[in-house]
Amino acid sequence: VMDEGVSIKGYYEIEKISDSFNQMINRLQKIENSRQEFVSNVSHELKTPITSIKVLADSLLMQEDAPVELYREFMVDITEEIERESKIIDDLLALVKLNKTAGDMNISSVNINELLEQILKRLQPLAKKQNIEMIYESFRPVTADVDEVKLSLALTNLIENAIKYNVPDGWVRVSLNADHKYFYVKVSDSGIGIPEDALDLIFERFYRVDKARSRESGGTGLGLAITKSVIQMHRGAIKVHSVEGEGTTFNVRIPLNYIA
Ligand code: ADP
Repeated sequence: VMDEGVSIKGYYEIEKISDSFNQMINRLQKIENSRQEFVSNVSHELKTPITSIKVLADSLLMQEDAPVELYREFMVDITEEIERESKIIDDLLALVKLNKTAGDMNISSVNINELLEQILKRLQPLAKKQNIEMIYESFRPVTADVDEVKLSLALTNLIENAIKYNVPDGWVRVSLNADHKYFYVKVSDSGIGIPEDALDLIFERFYRVDKARSRESGGTGLGLAITKSVIQMHRGAIKVHSVEGEGTTFNVRIPLNYIA
């Protein structure tokens, strides 16, 4: 090899370059696969309500002299499907916008206690419907440099899920704590829990453990993907612990001072 012009050292260099080239191709291939999967999921999710609307409208049109009550009944269902479609589009737009503006964080000094109290107040009516007790514990006053709108969205999703996937007369406990570097938000519930083999998947876009239940409560499967994205933008972390039939706890950790 040596006297043909390529030294041993040169040979290893070429091998190293080709290795990192292959790694790059693999990474691009993975990104492309997940992009394709996302597009196909989006199409499927958007098509479902449209298909229902079509079936409802067709069956009405097929019946001659359908009574006005029947029209009304079907229109209620059609309206629900339209609302569902809107919700999916809203969540998708929120997610796309988040990813596009990942760089431009609108950071300000935010009182996290107040932020959590506001969120809980807003979700109180939803909790009341299922007679779920909302408990808020703050171990210290916390002020942190965060993007208030994004963080509020992320925490709202977690607390809303704790209510949605709960049992009647259950409870949701939100607690706030901090040390010199981070603040910690813990959201626990007495709900249905998440099967162990689904724990890694719940942060994926459109993933739902129980499609029917998620659908019933107006879920799109995008909430936790949004939440995770926002927490990552704050250089934070989220962990989940769950026992089926007992409940779920999400632990969020976010730096007090934003690191760009
Ligand atoms: P969805 O819009 O369906 O609520 P999310 O992305 O917010 O979507 O959550 C994904 C799935 O994770 C939900 O469909 C649900 O199955 C499960 N999940 C999320 N939070 C909880 C919770 N607190 N308790 C039980 N299951 C949960």
